[in-house]
Amino acid sequence: MTSLSCQLYHTGKNVSAKVSSAGMSLCSEKCRIKCNDITDDVRSDIFHTYYGMDEESKNAYIFGCIITFKPQTVHTSAASHRTFSAAYYITVDGSRKKVCKRAFCTLHGIGAAKLRHVCEQVASGQHAAHPSQRGKHASRPKKLPDDVRQRVIQHISSFPSEPLHYSRSCNSGRQYLSPILTINTRSSATAERQRVSCTRLSRLAH
Ligand SMILES: [Zn+2]
Repeated sequence: MTSLSCQLYHTGKNVSAKVSSAGMSLCSEKCRIKCNDITDDVRSDIFHTYYGMDEESKNAYIFGCIITFKPQTVHTSAASHRTFSAAYYITVDGSRKKVCKRAFCTLHGIGAAKLRHVCEQVASGQHAAHPSQRGKHASRPKKLPDDVRQRVIQHISSFPSEPLHYSRSCNSGRQYLSPILTINTRSSATAERQRVSCTRLSRLAH
């Protein structure tokens, strides 16, 4: 695997390696669209173009690759809740080329859930992709407000500190609280002025 065929990207807490589909089977040999005929150069181009985009651009790009329509055959079975069908397209040499869902996911290194999410936006009649909500949710309700955080940092800075004696090469510039510092030391004028609780201090340290 060359360094160009692999991309690292963040998914919340994890960092995963995404690999270009070059040299891989894109879908079943029975696929009527023959997605596997797409050359490795095109696959590699698509993959690296996609991972060179920011989240907003990725969503906008995928949105533009999808066409949804009402299913031609209506399933009367209660087990089928499908309200739309989708067709997926890539651009090769300036022309649109249809690919199957599985090949589209493999080409872009994305999961079916991500694709379905964008498909639902297309099917709902939106004119463009929703802005990405990644990193903008409020799932960390215990996060300290910025002003409190700043006060905690100032408070810690007011204590005597010294550089670490061990593993300096990996920790250059890092300062550690002095070993002679005790909780009682906090009763100094500085600690009195800051009035920051020990709970907040330990929370910041983690
Ligand atoms: Zn296919």
